[in-house]
Amino acid sequence: MQTVILNNGVEMLILGFGVYQIPAEDTERAVSDALAAGYRLLDTAAAYNNEEAVGGAIKSSGVAREDLFVTTKLWVQDAPAEENTKRAFETSLNKLGLDHLDLYLMHQPFGDVYGQWRAMEALNREGLAKAIGVANFYPDRLIDLIANNEIVPAVNQIETHPFFQRADYQDLMRRHGVQIQSWGGFAEGKNDLFTNPVLAGIGKEHGKSVAQVVLRWLTQRGVITIPKSVRPERMAENIDVFDFELTDEQMASIATLDTGASLFFDHQDPEMVSWLSKRRLTD
Ligand code: NAP
Repeated sequence: MQTVILNNGVEMLILGFGVYQIPAEDTERAVSDALAAGYRLLDTAAAYNNEEAVGGAIKSSGVAREDLFVTTKLWVQDAPAEENTKRAFETSLNKLGLDHLDLYLMHQPFGDVYGQWRAMEALNREGLAKAIGVANFYPDRLIDLIANNEIVPAVNQIETHPFFQRADYQDLMRRHGVQIQSWGGFAEGKNDLFTNPVLAGIGKEHGKSVAQVVLRWLTQRGVITIPKSVRPERMAENIDVFDFELTDEQMASIATLDTGASLFFDHQDPEMVSWLSKRRLTD
């Protein structure tokens, strides 16, 4: 599997498995199936309420810890953010049954972002989180965080798919040493992605499915991707994307699908900021 070297030298797989919206009771089986299918990068979050199940699957898999790359995410913390971030990290680690994380992401650019980031920097320095990064940071927030802190986020996990491609933002992040990671690589099927004629036509030329074309397009752009599926046959399909290459013409025709806008929600929408900022997890 192709890998990417993050800004602190940590090596990260370019394709993994996401578990958002998998109910806790189904997650252990789904992750076990994903590990059996060959996935070694797992992406969860405290807010997904399934870290324990991810940990259970890791434990029963027999896969060596050093062969896995595990990401989880910090939810918005009440003050004092530094103390609460440390506690949230320990809770996640315990639920996952691990003694360190490969990547710890700040899930949302809200709350006391600086207090949260300082605590994450400390976890990184202590070796408890091998890399730290952010998610859902728009350019203004990301540059501000970089400009006013010591550690540059290794990763920014953002909505990225054929209808919201983020090419300019990827360039900006690259200039600052931040690796782009896609969430919602299939746009969760919105906009009839899986029957899109451009993607289907390209798939036909390679004998590949629309899902495989999308994942190949992302990884060929150097975008880390974490498709979610609860079905073993799709898990196998989604990891089988390294035996073909899209031509420049095919990349250019996929570029025409970009709308430049989110299909989910805008993290700069005041109502959404207010709603997300008030949400608290109970553990
Ligand atoms: P996604 O990967 O874009 O799409 C998942 C959907 O596609 C599911 O409905 C799945 O159905 C279907 N699917 C998967 N493989 C398929 C295939 N080969 N053919 C047809 N349909 C297929 O959505 P996502 O889960 O939102 O995003 C991926 C991961 O990104 C998440 O799991 C999570 O880890 C992360 N994420 C992060 C954030 C953030 O704020 N940082 C936000 C959202 C997501 P089945 O399961 O029925 O196969």
